[in-house]
Amino acid sequence: MSYTALYRKFRPAVFEDVKGQDHIVSTLKNQIKTGRIGHAYLFCGTRGTGKTTIAKIFAKSVNCENPVEGSPCGECPSCKAIADGASMNVIEIDAASNNGVDNIREIIEEVAYSPVDGKYKVYIIDEVHMLSAGAFNALLKTLEEPPKYVIFILATTEVQKIPITVLSRCQRYDFKRISIETIADRLKELTTIEKADVEDKALKYIAKTADGSMRDALSLLDQCLAFHYGEALTYEMALNVLGSVDVTVFSQMLRLIIEDNIIGCIELLEKIVMQGRELTNFVTDFTWYLRNLMLLKSFDSADESAQDALEMSKEHFERLKEEAQMVDINTIFRYISVFSELSNKMKYSSQKRILLEMTLIKVCRPQMEIDTESILERVRVLEKKLESGDFVVSAQPAAAQAPVAQAPKKNVKPAAEAALPEDIDKIATGWKSLCQMVDGLMKPAMLKAERYMGPDGKLIINAATALDEKLLSQEDHQVALDEIFTQFTGKKVPFIVKGPADTAIFDSGDLVELQSRLGMSVEIE
Ligand SMILES: [Zn+2]
Repeated sequence: MSYTALYRKFRPAVFEDVKGQDHIVSTLKNQIKTGRIGHAYLFCGTRGTGKTTIAKIFAKSVNCENPVEGSPCGECPSCKAIADGASMNVIEIDAASNNGVDNIREIIEEVAYSPVDGKYKVYIIDEVHMLSAGAFNALLKTLEEPPKYVIFILATTEVQKIPITVLSRCQRYDFKRISIETIADRLKELTTIEKADVEDKALKYIAKTADGSMRDALSLLDQCLAFHYGEALTYEMALNVLGSVDVTVFSQMLRLIIEDNIIGCIELLEKIVMQGRELTNFVTDFTWYLRNLMLLKSFDSADESAQDALEMSKEHFERLKEEAQMVDINTIFRYISVFSELSNKMKYSSQKRILLEMTLIKVCRPQMEIDTESILERVRVLEKKLESGDFVVSAQPAAAQAPVAQAPKKNVKPAAEAALPEDIDKIATGWKSLCQMVDGLMKPAMLKAERYMGPDGKLIINAATALDEKLLSQEDHQVALDEIFTQFTGKKVPFIVKGPADTAIFDSGDLVELQSRLGMSVEIE
């Protein structure tokens, strides 16, 4: 025996079996009972909410020889023919594939012939918004004055695309998304009939995932049952089958951030990009993961009810619980605000990856942030140092010192050591591979640039053009360069971006001016 998908097998055959659209069902039943049947109906609403199902029941009812309370009897020849798809009186058209003027003309010609048996010819045009403008026009006249034996039922998921001229000629019915309870109850009914052993919690989860669509809910249930064929379907199993988003990668990313492991974060991001993952979605989902972490952290107890609220499998929940122990709630707030801001920015940016990299670096380095909180923290540290006279004068050249003051926060690593000449050399020689760590406009600008060690031990990046110079001098790019150098050498590397004009700065005239400004003699090394 071949397997019939649940949503086909349990497609309602009478109005009483339609769930969640009570207002529509009762209106249509009344029309049938009182014989006040319209000639053009427009059914609007999201997918899987019962539009074509109700259209078909309605088509059966109007032709039924013995309708019961407005519902079709299901026994008479007409009902049987329609159920078998053999009736000439119910014509289903998918406008997605028949959207031209000619398709509509065919219908109009056919409309002229009255039904051979039965009372009404019912034309169900699905996805009617797909019709071309010409096709809509061709349909208009017939919609306005159809023969009395014709009923049009137009169904659409996108009512805003229907011309006003068509809207004004139809009785409009808005199909609601079906509530989770209604869907779950229906699933319960069906699994009982099917003798499938399914945990109530699993049904509820499936109902929720279906997002208002009964058809989706039945397909999802099918999927879960097929995956665990012959077994009792538990909530855990449903989560594993349907929770297709792999949260492992979020957990990895979070742990790297907590460890302030910038290199690890950037490497993981590389993997994510290689997997072809869409970065905007990644950030949205990661923010959601952080939100779960925040909730878990705020719950009084991390017990089973918390697991239910977060809808996670036990394995993922255990991991999240561990992570909740690793960070304090204020840090989570900070992560969430940084990443939600990022997802807004990313929507309009062509440099999604760089933005994400910058953000990862930022969250790993709270001392780099310039928000009031962070600055206040840094001022407090300085004041304390002033009071105690606890100053250490560095023996290293001033220019090579790490400029970043260090806030005594938890999870903050000491600032990187100052770079040595050999580190600058490493950058200058390893430039090409270093350029692979950036993308976007920065990359070509960097590839073209000369780089060498300046007299004061700083790395000089000599941009090839004035435009490149401007680009590399932008604040966010400077931050990115700084981070890349640190990542590359493990040290804090002082650097200056110069333009093509700067190489010629020390001609004799400049030297004289420079000497007079400084009030001392200057020698060029
Ligand atoms: Zn009947």
